Amino acid sequence: MTGRLTVLGLGPGDPRYLTADAVSALATAEVLYGYGPYLDRVPVRPNQDRCASDNRQEGVRATAALAAAGAGANVAIVSGGDPGVFAMAAAVCQEIENGPAEWRAIDLVVVPGITAMLAVAARVGAPLGHDFCALSLSDNLKPWALVERRLDAAAAAGFVIALYNPLSRARPWQLGAAFAHLRRTLPGSAPVVFGRAVGRPDEAIVVTTLAAADPAHADMATLVIVGSAETRLIRRHDGRAPLVYTPRSVERATP
Ligand code: SAH
Repeated sequence: MTGRLTVLGLGPGDPRYLTADAVSALATAEVLYGYGPYLDRVPVRPNQDRCASDNRQEGVRATAALAAAGAGANVAIVSGGDPGVFAMAAAVCQEIENGPAEWRAIDLVVVPGITAMLAVAARVGAPLGHDFCALSLSDNLKPWALVERRLDAAAAAGFVIALYNPLSRARPWQLGAAFAHLRRTLPGSAPVVFGRAVGRPDEAIVVTTLAAADPAHADMATLVIVGSAETRLIRRHDGRAPLVYTPRSVERATP
């Protein structure tokens, strides 16, 4: 008997950001797998088991969930944000590619969620209003030289850049190095947004410029948006937070 594996996104934190599809997948699963702090966001239900694991255990978690689904259970794996953005959906696909042939018969459903970059962008206006890209600064899964190459290419091409995994206790220098790199190509006036723990009680938003951007505003729960040369920072009155937006049209062919 083959069961079902749903990989779902919980959004950035606030339960209001859960999609109706994710709510119904959470209600019907017999067992939930996930990183402990994400599982803690999901209310406990009678008759529903949960298997928490460490955040570096993606492959092991995906394998365990696939084995349970392969044995006939209705299983869900929870991710923060969207499960396809630097998260569990790719880990599950990889285990299906490399695992036993029976796993290809599992009913796999990926339920999208609001990814951190969209939640942060919405807080400050419309920084992603024109062409943009997303990069993880973690060099756990790729060499740092490749991160630098992609930063250079993205900045030179005029993309607004969303930076996931900007730093952590084990990777304290990456964001500072990325800013230093981007300052070679982008004007110091390019707006930079730090969105920390968006949708959670300890949310903090900082809007600054690339010249002034201080990595100390970031931790592993922060998403950083670096504007392009086109991105605008609009000051407002009466203590209102500034607006950041990227105009929808560009006149010149070179950024
Ligand atoms: N799948 C997730 C991303 C996982 S990578 C998503 O779609 O959002 C983990 C990184 O996501 C963190 O280091 C941080 O950069 C970002 N992130 C996740 N939740 C966040 C939140 N609530 N506020 C700001 N950034 C967040």
